[in-house]
Amino acid sequence: MIKLSHVTKRYPNGHEALHDVSFDIAAGEMVFLAGHSGAGKSTLFKLITRIEKPTSGQILVDNQNLSRLRDNKIPALRRDIGVIFQDHKLLMDRSVFDNVALPLIVIGMPHDEIQKRVRAALGKVGLSGKEKQLPITLSGGEQQRVGIARAVINRPSILLADEPTGNLDDALSDEIIDIFADFNRVGVTVMIATHDFRQIERLGNRTIHLAHGQLMNLAQPVTHQPNP
Ligand code: ADP
Ligand code: ADP
Repeated sequence: MIKLSHVTKRYPNGHEALHDVSFDIAAGEMVFLAGHSGAGKSTLFKLITRIEKPTSGQILVDNQNLSRLRDNKIPALRRDIGVIFQDHKLLMDRSVFDNVALPLIVIGMPHDEIQKRVRAALGKVGLSGKEKQLPITLSGGEQQRVGIARAVINRPSILLADEPTGNLDDALSDEIIDIFADFNRVGVTVMIATHDFRQIERLGNRTIHLAHGQLMNLAQPVTHQPNP
């Protein structure tokens, strides 16, 4: 579903954020992407969603070669990938309903259908009945659930979560990760960037480790390479 072959990303300022990264995530898999701040996790997500292009190497998402993807196919790619951020990026002056409905309003879906879908998505994340509230009146965990509902509203086949539990305590983090596991159980491919090793141990899923832009092979002693 997501396949990287020898991907290197060098930003215009010369900084190499990823170096020769290769991995393959099967459809229906849920993997963790572990690595400290600056390891290249966000860059990886930007490459998968075609916000950035690799300097070299190949990225396949659902059998599409992103380097060859025409610009007019990018919206469809992004609709098939739900992205969740640590700070959830909600519109604080709009209701929960409006926040979750936004991706459907953008594609011009009829209002009745939007209402049905928003209700269903809020149900899946445990926020039924909160449609009219402003995000500011919700707890941090609930705000993150709104972000997840918005990310799944187009029924994407891939979910990418960038530090989704970064601001939450252990109990709330468990609940949020379990929501991702629920979507994974119905077939969604899930990739969660985190440095919360508690979650990785708790779930035991395959984990891709990044350090200074490179994959770490944990079977080998880890030697940290200085950034070029
Ligand atoms: P992470 O998400 O793991 O914290 P990032 O992918 O955000 O890592 O960043 C990896 C490295 O690339 C960092 O050193 C960061 O400073 C650098 N970086 C990220 N974005 C840019 C950019 N647009 N231009 C230059 N350097 C960048
Ligand atoms: P209902 O049949 O009650 O409308 P659905 O099972 O269609 O409920 O799904 C409700 C919501 O859950 C969807 O709008 C979507 O947000 C999310 N969802 C369910 N299945 C998937 C899936 N396979 N991929 C992504 N999101 C999904």
